[in-house]
Amino acid sequence: MAASSQNTSVGFIGLGIMGKAMARNILKAGFKLTVFNRTPEKAAELVQEGALLAESPAAVAAASDIVFTCVPDTPDVEKVLFGPGGVVEGAEAGMVVIDCSTISATATMEFAARLKEHEIDLVDSPVSGGPQGAVNGTLSCMIGGDDAVVTRCMPVFEAIGKTFVHIGPTGAGQITKSCNQLVICATMMGMSEAVALCKKQGIDPEKMRQALVGGAARSFVMENHCKRLIDETLDPGFRAALMLKDMKLAMTVGRDAGVFMPSTTLATQMLTALSETERAGLDSAAVGLVFQELSGIR
Ligand code: NAP
Repeated sequence: MAASSQNTSVGFIGLGIMGKAMARNILKAGFKLTVFNRTPEKAAELVQEGALLAESPAAVAAASDIVFTCVPDTPDVEKVLFGPGGVVEGAEAGMVVIDCSTISATATMEFAARLKEHEIDLVDSPVSGGPQGAVNGTLSCMIGGDDAVVTRCMPVFEAIGKTFVHIGPTGAGQITKSCNQLVICATMMGMSEAVALCKKQGIDPEKMRQALVGGAARSFVMENHCKRLIDETLDPGFRAALMLKDMKLAMTVGRDAGVFMPSTTLATQMLTALSETERAGLDSAAVGLVFQELSGIR
């Protein structure tokens, strides 16, 4: 039976930049919502709006039919699922975990097998669209998992996103997300070079940006990241540390598949340079600053 706000309780673990906004949209869609955040104070607003606060991921699972996770990296997902007080300790058979974190595809398949031992299904659904897409409920969801389970969860997905593509079996969503991130980063490398070139040549980079978004070079990166870089409004957004994590995931997938990935390699190196100069907490668009430093502009 498809999930509805009448027959389905939803849980949400990880109320960060993305998770809090996604959880709010699930609440607005009328679902009973139970939340957990490592730092409980960050759940206060949602609790005021009607969510129930649980003291552990296990307690979220005990209260829910479908549990979303949205935490930074592979070890964090493993911890909230299988660690002390983790989801498996509270879940009943038949529960579904929807993981919206961007993590390793291989680990995702392994987590799915471990959850299956407890009769819990895992759907991987990394998202794209950024914090604004999370607030507006317009995310693109790249879904991997069993057909029937994905179909059952679709009404809850509709609360958080606008584009849903069921790519294939568990893990397929994560591989698609690597494609998404490497395309964004490749564009960001070109964008960073363009801004550095304008600065060096005494051309206003904002005028360059305006011209490009009116033509064939228009992209999310030119509209958003380029503006942030030019204005140096580099509060995240999407932290450079998370983008570096995503490039390392893409490198691993590419290496294992035997695919030549020079753009991803360059992006990984540039994001490493940014992170190793104590700027991992800035928005990923800050990578353009490194191009300017290497060009003698800054
Ligand atoms: P974030 O703002 O750093 O939030 C991370 C959340 O995870 C916080 O609630 C944090 O709790 C919690 N957390 C971290 N480690 C944990 C652990 N070991 N155990 C339990 N909870 C833990 O990150 P975000 O930007 O929302 O990103 C979350 C995921 O979505 C990442 O995989 C990211 O790659 C992906 N994503 C992000 C964006 C974006 O634009 N930001 C877009 C698409 C996808 P505390 O509050 O206690 O720190």
